Amino acid sequence: MLAEIPAGTSADVDRAVESAREAFEGWDAGPGERQSLLHEIADRIEAEREVFAKLETLDNGKPIREAQGDVAAAVDHFRYFAAATRHHEGITLPPDGTRSVRTVHEPFGVVGAITPWNFPLLITSWKLAPALAAGNAVVHKPAEQTPLTALKLADEIREVVPDGLVSVVPGYGTEAGEPLTKHDDVDKIAFTGSTPVGKQVMRNAADDVTDVTLELGGKNPVVVFPDADVRSAVRSAFLAIFYNKGETCSAGSRMFVHEDVYEEFTEALVETARDTEPGDPLLSETSFGPKVSKEQVDRTMAYVESARESGGRFRAGGNRVEEEPYADGCFVEPTVVEGLDHDSDPVQEEIFGPVLELFEWSDYDAMVERANDVDYGLTAGVMTEDLGRANDCARDLEAGTVWVNQYQDFPAGMPFGGYKQSGIGRETAFETVEEYTRTKAIDVSLR
Ligand code: NAD
Repeated sequence: MLAEIPAGTSADVDRAVESAREAFEGWDAGPGERQSLLHEIADRIEAEREVFAKLETLDNGKPIREAQGDVAAAVDHFRYFAAATRHHEGITLPPDGTRSVRTVHEPFGVVGAITPWNFPLLITSWKLAPALAAGNAVVHKPAEQTPLTALKLADEIREVVPDGLVSVVPGYGTEAGEPLTKHDDVDKIAFTGSTPVGKQVMRNAADDVTDVTLELGGKNPVVVFPDADVRSAVRSAFLAIFYNKGETCSAGSRMFVHEDVYEEFTEALVETARDTEPGDPLLSETSFGPKVSKEQVDRTMAYVESARESGGRFRAGGNRVEEEPYADGCFVEPTVVEGLDHDSDPVQEEIFGPVLELFEWSDYDAMVERANDVDYGLTAGVMTEDLGRANDCARDLEAGTVWVNQYQDFPAGMPFGGYKQSGIGRETAFETVEEYTRTKAIDVSLR
């Protein structure tokens, strides 16, 4: 066993919210002070980067190189939002001689942050950094599968913020998460997780008309045009679906490949998938790690079986890894399947594993209609050498982010969030600070 972590209850949530409220009311740090504080948090994560990365890999199973990348990105997001504290200005209406109108952005107060297990530290940073930049207190409920880096981060943050301003209540969704979403002294909920749970969070928050940001699931299309540079498109496609062993909300899991390059592209991708060896995630040469839990392996394999029963043809993978020393682990082979009906469950639902579904196309309009024919709209990819065509296709796809000739790129400052049932609100960008504030208009009579 790696660690034993207490499971919080509604009583713990009550205590954390009470302390957060008290700390918030006693905290009047201006933008400069909040900027310094966020830089100090970034410095502390950076100083402990190897510990954070190792903890993340042990907890989640992601290859250590990917965990190191997550830690560096977390540092960068704290620094980005440190800078944002200085630029979050209001507006002034043009003077008309009768009144003076200006706006100020005020923090909500107490933010409840709920995060998933796939990028535990990074997604926590995506919430904590803008929430603190805007001047809020935060109570964080990490995923029950992966609470370790959240607890380590809280230890670091505690050294630089007033007591109670940031706290963590580890535990299960219904026991610790739900009380946070229903709490009448929580002013804002920032949730990342699955769409069904996101809907429940929204329903719970509705009772007190609590503000919500929801970052939810995805079933994201990647479109390959006939003029794409096939080698580079295969590299991007591989990253799109197999990065973090397919456990990304942005996974490019439905790939639409033009008939002129379908076989060439598929052969090259299948070869790369077959050559991908599972490995010990703590070793720096490993590029493909185990899934987070046995439960998630079973969930993925149930979709694989359903794809098999629906007539899917497996070009690569389609099995758990049975070879020693991985037979008892949580490895699923990188899987590429074609021939599925687009209306079938494995195509319409988020698998959240290393399973890629391929579709051949010839008619552009019909392909776009299909690509958009899911409940989700988080991300998409377009592979072509023609940037005019890329732009048109990016505009036609219903997604919050469209990558062109690349995939899984998340620079701080680029808004990230979903269309349709993939969510509400945008993270990782300047506008995110706004999501953690309320706008007040002050209208003064000049008569
Ligand atoms: P999940 O919805 O099961 O859980 C997410 C979090 O919500 C966990 O902390 C969980 O304990 C908590 N939770 C569960 N039930 C709850 C309830 N009733 N009330 C309050 N909180 C509750 O998701 P998961 O399995 O941890 O993560 C995978 C999902 O997250 C996928 O759907 C993935 O696409 C999504 N995700 C989205 C983004 C994004 O930015 N859009 C990023 C990463 C993951």
